[in-house]
Amino acid sequence: MATLEIKNLHVSIETPDGPKPILRGVDLTVRSGETHAIMGPNGSGKSTLAYTIAGHPRYEVTEGEILLDGEDVLEMSVDERARAGMFLAMQYPVEVPGVTVANFLRTAKTAIDGTAPALRTWTGEVKGAMDALRMDPEFATRNVNEGFSGGEKKRHEILQMELLRPQIAVLDETDSGLDVDALRIVSEGVNRLKDSSEVGVLLITHYTRILQYIKPDFVHVFVAGRVAEQGGPELADRLEAEGYDRFLAQTV
Ligand code: ADP
Ligand code: MG
Ligand code: MG
Repeated sequence: MATLEIKNLHVSIETPDGPKPILRGVDLTVRSGETHAIMGPNGSGKSTLAYTIAGHPRYEVTEGEILLDGEDVLEMSVDERARAGMFLAMQYPVEVPGVTVANFLRTAKTAIDGTAPALRTWTGEVKGAMDALRMDPEFATRNVNEGFSGGEKKRHEILQMELLRPQIAVLDETDSGLDVDALRIVSEGVNRLKDSSEVGVLLITHYTRILQYIKPDFVHVFVAGRVAEQGGPELADRLEAEGYDRFLAQTV
């Protein structure tokens, strides 16, 4: 069981003109087994929240806290966050020259579990997860992110998540750049993990369409760096019908 608590979080981003406040007091709690969707217009601070949870150095927490089972996440290095059971998809967005997908996955698994996975079972696990995501076995021999298409990046992200089996997973814009088939395959991966574990999921998205495949228990609408409204899955249906205009009008 795990609980991620975000309390009164204020975050500024470094810009050439100095720090710019983006998040202005975010409160959010994600527990094991729950799926929370964060929705909101472009520029409302959704990715800022994801990067801050991931520990990106560009984002400065000026107030508030992030706790995982009461432990101060902001004091943890990026690696410590992963070892504590958090999966942050945006942690590895860059090309890793000369490191194959297969080696990368095994290294990450070893780092997180503290021991190397048994080769016999691990190879089968990787193959099974890749099959389920309809990935060509050849993909495992490619270098991480080198020439990956948008869809391959997303599949690789979900592959990592399924194999690393985190307690809390933060997925940002998992649906952007995916065609409908790829969206379904990626969503099935998230649902497999939800069905086979008590993972808590923070699913960040501008669009409602992924929520047709991954059912959220809670929906939070971000506007101008704050949660402007929260509700159950019906709130996503309402956003699908009405868009964000109602919320944008509020901020003027
Ligand atoms: P979202 O993911 O909801 O679209 P972001 O967290 O990416 O929102 O951005 C929130 C705000 O931070 C926006 O106003 C955006 O202009 C600003 N911002 C994001 N990245 C940068 C940057 N690199 N430099 C300056 N401002 C930025
Ligand atoms: Mg579950
Ligand atoms: Mg974003």
